[in-house]
Order: sequence, then C-alpha cells, then structure tokens
Amino acid sequence: MVPRVVFGRGSFGQLADILLPKRKNSEAPFIFLVDDFFEGKPLEQRIPWLFNDQIIFISADEEPKTKQVDALVEKIITDFDELPSGIVGIGGGTLLDLAKAVAVMVNNKGSSVEYQGWDLVNRPALYHVGVPTISGTGAEVSRTAVLLGPDKKLGINSDYTTYDQVVLDPDLLTTVPTDQWFYTGMDCFIHCVESLEGTYLNAFSQSHGEKALELCKEVFLGELPKDQAEEKLMMASWHGGMSIAYSQVGVAHAISYGLSYVLGTKHGLGNCLVFQHLQDFYPEGVALFLKMKAKQAVEFPAGLCKELSDDELEQMVQIALSMEPLWENALGKNWKDRITQDQLKQIYQKI
Ligand code: NAD
Ligand code: ZN
Repeated sequence: MVPRVVFGRGSFGQLADILLPKRKNSEAPFIFLVDDFFEGKPLEQRIPWLFNDQIIFISADEEPKTKQVDALVEKIITDFDELPSGIVGIGGGTLLDLAKAVAVMVNNKGSSVEYQGWDLVNRPALYHVGVPTISGTGAEVSRTAVLLGPDKKLGINSDYTTYDQVVLDPDLLTTVPTDQWFYTGMDCFIHCVESLEGTYLNAFSQSHGEKALELCKEVFLGELPKDQAEEKLMMASWHGGMSIAYSQVGVAHAISYGLSYVLGTKHGLGNCLVFQHLQDFYPEGVALFLKMKAKQAVEFPAGLCKELSDDELEQMVQIALSMEPLWENALGKNWKDRITQDQLKQIYQKI
C-alpha cells in the first residue's frame, strides 16, 4: 500500500515541503518526469525544483516502453555524480508508470525487460512520489508499472514498485479533455466490474470495489458540478486501484492488451472499445456502461480491426489468451473450457 498520501485542492503546493526532508544533499537531485501537456502551462512554474533538480517533459501519446525506461535510467545515472534523491511522476497512468519503473530501475541492475513479471525486483526502488493529473487507472496506488517490451506488455509487479508518497490534487484535473476524461474514468469503472464479478474477490477488494463503483455512478450518471465530479473520480480511481491490487482484472483487460500490443490503442479507449461488446460476460456492467456513454454523449472510433490480416488477428487472440490470471479471475479455474479462439476473434472483428 502507498504509505503516505495527501488529498485536497491546492495540495500540489505542499510538494516542496514533502520533498525537502528527502533531499540527501544539494548534489542529489530530484528528477521530475512530467507529462509534456504541462510544458509552458502554469503548473510548470509550480514544480518545486531546487539546486540541480531536473524536469524532463515526456509525451503520453504512447504508452511507456521498456527501452524508454532504460534510456531514462542511463541518462539519470550518467548526468549526475550522485544518485538522485528521488523521482517524481506528474501526469496520467503513462507518466505514473514510467516514473515508478525508473525509480525501480535506478536501483536495480540490467534492463527493465528482466523485471516484467511478478516479484522479480531485488532491491528497493529510489524514493518516488506520484502526482496524478487524470483519474481512473489507479496507477497512483497500484504495485505495478505496466510497460510495453519487445515481446510483451506486462508490468513490473512488486512491493517496491508502489509509490512512497502520492499527492492527490483535484485542481490538476480541470484541463482534462471530455473524451479522455470518459476513457480513463471508464478504466476505473471496468476495474470495479472485473474485480467485483471475478472469482478472486475477497472482502478487502470488495469493499474498495463497491465504493469505487458507487462513486463512478455518481460521476457518470449523476448531475454533479464539475469540481465535485473531479474530487469523486479521484477517489474512485484510488479505490478501484486498491480493489484490483487485491484481486485481478478480467476479460476486458485481457482482450484490450491484444489491441494495445498490435495497434497501439491506448488503455482507456481500448478497454471501452472492448467492454461495449462483453454482454455475455458482464451483462449488468455493460448495460450500465452503455447508459453512462449515452449520458456523457461520447462517441467511439469504429472499424479499428477491419483491415487487419488473419495473422494480426491471431496475434491479438494469442496475446489476450496469454493473460492467464485475468481469465482465471473472470471465468474460474476451468476458464480454458469457457472461451474459444473464435469467440475472441469475433469480438475483435466488431471493434
Ligand atoms: P495517459 O497518461 O496516457 O494520458 C492520456 C492523455 O491525457 C494524454 O494525452 C495526456 O497528455 C493527457 N492528460 C493527462 N493529464 C491531463 C490534464 N490534466 N489535462 C489535459 N490533458 C491531460 O492516460 P491514462 O489513461 O491515465 O493512462 C493510461 C496508461 O496507464 C497506460 O499506459 C496503461 O497501461 C496504464 N495503466 C496502469 C495501471 C497500473 O496499475 N499501473 C492501471 C491501468 C492503466
Ligand atoms: Zn485498467
């Protein structure tokens, strides 16, 4: 679990005080990895850099990659005489995962590819702080940093991956575009459905999942003013993340990983595109999802898989099926008897 968190409008202003006691000396910088949306925006001026701290702006157009993590770690190690005091990630799931992975890899040998999996990290990460600027993924609270590697999309899942400190400031969400707000928000909703409907469910993940689901309904079906919706989605993301951290995601995520690997479709949108066709697996969840989509008047792109070759479709199916814990959570121990390659192919063909 994340041991320290502050929440509230304006709490980004506390970051300087939070970092100060963690500064080893003036030669050991803090590295701020920041979504390049904020370059030249007012938030840039509020980043509390001191001494030789470094701000690195990074595009979130593509999901984080193992080679990107390795290049950043190499740069950080060669640019400074001392190891940094810590890493601060400011952005959505993309930047939050990237910062977690960099903090782990600065203190661990080799390439990040070697650590994609479960509990493969040997040494504690560098002190790292997460500041989400869009809500839904739960990346701010989870023990994974999802990376696209040369042959798989898989997280660095470990107790060392989790942030040491998170700053939840709903003010940072005000600039999120409407469609992205929905895609990333629905990631949280889908986490709740997949966790609550899954066989791995337990009382701990259930209590977080139920709270997150209730908040998602308020945000996407209610008539909340924008400021309240921001605050509630920020908490929904947190609880949804906690819920899956102690259970697992399911069918939508497995199928969406195939889309993301072959077409580069981003996580939130990919999950939405898949989830709308999962009536057979999550009938109530899909009905609610379609109601939210109508209420929020969001349109999805269509025909993404129309031009795909048989080989590409086959690759997507194989990637989806390789996510074994997700299927086992969704369909139980005998999941292989309950899903066929043809069924999966048909779902992709609808997208
Ligand atoms: P994102 O970080 O990819 O950002 C989406 C878009 O929103 C980008 O264009 C970004 O620049 C923009 N954006 C972010 N904050 C903004 C703001 N305040 N104002 C205006 N624009 C803003 O989006 P995401 O959906 O949060 O993250 C997706 C990533 O999260 C994927 O890489 C996925 O694998 C990962 N993920 C991780 C976990 C986990 O537990 N670690 C869980 C789910 C998803
Ligand atoms: Zn997700």
